[in-house]
Amino acid sequence: MAQEQIQPQALEPFQVLGVPLHLTRNYFDWLLARLKQRQGCHVVTLNAEMTMQAERNPDLATVIHQAELVIPDGAGVVLYLRLHGRRIKRCPGIELAESLLQAIAQQNLGKIVFFGGAPGVAEQAAAKLEAKYPGLAIAHVQNGYLTPETTPVFLQTLKELQPELVLVGLGVPRQEFWIAQHRHLCPNTVWIGVGGSFDVWAGTKQRAPGWLRNNNLEWVYRLYKEPWRWKRMLDLPRFAWRSLLYRLGH
Ligand code: UDP
Repeated sequence: MAQEQIQPQALEPFQVLGVPLHLTRNYFDWLLARLKQRQGCHVVTLNAEMTMQAERNPDLATVIHQAELVIPDGAGVVLYLRLHGRRIKRCPGIELAESLLQAIAQQNLGKIVFFGGAPGVAEQAAAKLEAKYPGLAIAHVQNGYLTPETTPVFLQTLKELQPELVLVGLGVPRQEFWIAQHRHLCPNTVWIGVGGSFDVWAGTKQRAPGWLRNNNLEWVYRLYKEPWRWKRMLDLPRFAWRSLLYRLGH
């Protein structure tokens, strides 16, 4: 059957403190078109923490530069855009990934692989999502703690499956490096780094309530639930400060 040809909207390149970001009206449409046309790509979900990490880690910055799609995942990034006169809606990676899963299920668009999370978590996430979206079938699930024995088996599975979509949840920046290093195994695949999304889908972690998310305060909830992240989260005030200085400097 001839594949429907959808022209993806153009992406406008933008920079957040020197880190690339793509602007478009509808990230989902863009990504679905790429998936249907079997044009592989790497999706990075940019937030303030990752921007600061990329500033300190040139290897991470290089990987983000090479990604075909970098979306405004975090509230800090959206506020930065607003400071620069751009009103763009936040596009949380977890929501984009779930919309894609739903579309694949509804339109029977191909094979999906989940990779990441503690043993059992991604399986549980797959089971819950399969129950939620009739027609969804996750072709392969691999936990995020590969060993010298399981690594070659998993890489061989990817080569043979050539899935349409691979979600990689190893945390930042591990997942970005992993995708950059292995995407050649499945060049026509859409690869998305999804952080802790498997934990959320599995129900082992909760997202912040909607009213906190809507007020750009997801980070407060994160700090309350996972106080050990405080050191890492110092990147948020750093990002805000750098953004203000940058704005004043221009
Ligand atoms: N993880 C993994 N393998 C590792 C380290 C971490 O699969 O070697 C998983 C971990 O179980 C968790 C996710 O990566 O599910 C990291 O989630 P987090 O919310 O910290 O992601 P981030 O905030 O970095 O996007």
